[in-house]
Amino acid sequence: MGKLRLDDMKTTNPIAVGDRVEFSIEEDEKEGIIYRIHPRKNYVVRQSPRKKHNVHLIASNIDQAMLIVTVKSPDLKLGFIDRFLLMTQPYDIPVIIVINKKDILDPQDLAFCEAVTKIYSHIGYKVKLVSALTGEGIDGLKLELKDKITLISGQSGVGKTSLINAIEPNIDLRTSEISDYTGKGQHTTTFAEMFPLSIGGDIIDTPGIKTLGFNHFDVLDVAHNFKEIFITSQYCKFNNCTHRNEPKCAVKSAVEEGRIHPSRYASYLHIVGEVEEQNYWERHKDI
Ligand code: GDP
Ligand code: ZN
Repeated sequence: MGKLRLDDMKTTNPIAVGDRVEFSIEEDEKEGIIYRIHPRKNYVVRQSPRKKHNVHLIASNIDQAMLIVTVKSPDLKLGFIDRFLLMTQPYDIPVIIVINKKDILDPQDLAFCEAVTKIYSHIGYKVKLVSALTGEGIDGLKLELKDKITLISGQSGVGKTSLINAIEPNIDLRTSEISDYTGKGQHTTTFAEMFPLSIGGDIIDTPGIKTLGFNHFDVLDVAHNFKEIFITSQYCKFNNCTHRNEPKCAVKSAVEEGRIHPSRYASYLHIVGEVEEQNYWERHKDI
């Protein structure tokens, strides 16, 4: 949907999980050399934790992504869901939002889950409520994963490891314990890894995603990659409308009339503000 193109950005890593490559084996048969990376049908990038304005390729050639969240323990952050969807939207990658730990939810929490499900299913994402602990909903997840390449993500503590183990008991996720921080408090690059599923398909585990920043986006990249905001923006008076103070803004009307959810619009404004501030300091870095 959006216009984000990898060719215009610097990547900190030349190759990612999911890349299809051609390689030759050296004579000693201990090493190989990759000499060609096939064109990618899609990819997911994040702002590089190491170098400002560079991006880190997380994975390529994926069929869908699965974001694991919880309502309680840890508390749900709708903002993080919106950031994740902003990351996957430039290539229109289907996302399944999985709410884990259903077993600890009371009726009030369940009503909240229903509201959340409505927000996201309304704009075209699947939402599933499951429990890795009791196994509820796991068969349904397997059906979603079967024969597909799925990027799996979630902030720590949501039960990503437990869920992956419930889906595929023999996967060894030890590599996911590689720390996101070095001793000096600096970020290190984290490695996504692909695992085959016995039911068919593969999952790509993405350890260590704590926050998602967008300093590789400009304001219109954000506007173009909030699905429902982009669709509605065709009715704005100005085609470069950023949906804040412009007159005759269809997005603002849609928020007022309840067709775009206020929490999505709030996330949008928050990220746009962040991106603008980063761009401002970038232009004025010499003062
Ligand atoms: P990760 O950091 O996302 O990989 O999360 P873990 O799989 O390590 O789980 C974090 C904590 O949540 C652990 O104490 C798990 O036992 C617990 N947990 C995971 N799934 C569930 C669930 O469905 N229900 C409940 N009650 N606890 C869970
Ligand atoms: Zn507008």
